[in-house]
Amino acid sequence: AASYVGFDSITSQIEKKLLKRGFQFNVILVGQTGLGKSTLINTIFASHLVDSKGRLEADEPVRQTTDIHPVSHVISENGVRLRLNIVDTPGYGDQINNENCWDPIVKYIKASNLDQHSAYLRKELTAMRDKYIVDTRIHCCLFFINPTGHSLRPIDIIVMKKLSEVVNVVPVIAKSDSLTIEERDNFKNNELVYHNIRLYPFDTEEFDEDELKHNEVIRSMIPFAIVGSERNVIIDGKPVRGRKNRWGVVNVEDERHCEFVYLRDFLLRTHLQDLIETTAQIHYEAFRSKQLLALKE
Ligand code: GDP
Ligand code: MG
Repeated sequence: AASYVGFDSITSQIEKKLLKRGFQFNVILVGQTGLGKSTLINTIFASHLVDSKGRLEADEPVRQTTDIHPVSHVISENGVRLRLNIVDTPGYGDQINNENCWDPIVKYIKASNLDQHSAYLRKELTAMRDKYIVDTRIHCCLFFINPTGHSLRPIDIIVMKKLSEVVNVVPVIAKSDSLTIEERDNFKNNELVYHNIRLYPFDTEEFDEDELKHNEVIRSMIPFAIVGSERNVIIDGKPVRGRKNRWGVVNVEDERHCEFVYLRDFLLRTHLQDLIETTAQIHYEAFRSKQLLALKE
């Protein structure tokens, strides 16, 4: 009979190593001023830190954003630590002359990726295999779409295209509480496909039918129609993130009201690893071949 050697313990060895060092996930938010980017950061962290000691103050004011800066917290579930880093950006495209208004953001993403890529390549070339490198790459860009325009502005299309060259772009419909159900559906119907913007997720030739179908499901969810809030409202005696109107309350975490929970699940539960891997495959491979070519010359 075949004897048992025990190499199946490799999975727990890997798990132990990964648990020890934790995970890092970097997201950047891009869009016009006033669409709720800073508010969403506050909402994501509040919704996730409710039971941990890092909890945010409910009424911490959201200030006008004037520079690109990361907001970072470690969140932890069942012994798994995740450093979630969300990069806030000032709005772009508010000027009369919007030429190259995306430049600072694209530069920021490129610099983050480049730091990481260079560190990886150095590690590869010098065989420092055990050295752990903190992941500075931007794994995902949430692109905020204005809910009132009924279509994308030309500047948004240009910026989204520029971004999609350097990062996984996932569009969201901002402030979707201002849309009727019909308007929301209209938005979801193919505006983005029409403009031929290369958005996450990407199909590859190696994909089997299941994987292709899975990507289709994600595409049908995007863009996520979201609502953010920096305040708690009391619903059924419990404080939840919400927005109170004259006619009622929007509960940010209620799936019947908006898709914030879908977005959060997508980012932090179902697609965390895939967004990280895609960043590595697509963007690192391109960088690597260029650098290695340069070395040969
Ligand atoms: P930013 O410029 O994109 O960072 O936008 P802010 O987060 O500063 O938000 C601008 C204003 O929009 C604030 O008054 C927010 O309270 C409000 N706001 C943010 N998110 C939403 C939302 O989902 N729905 C509505 N109706 N208002 C929002
Ligand atoms: Mg802001």
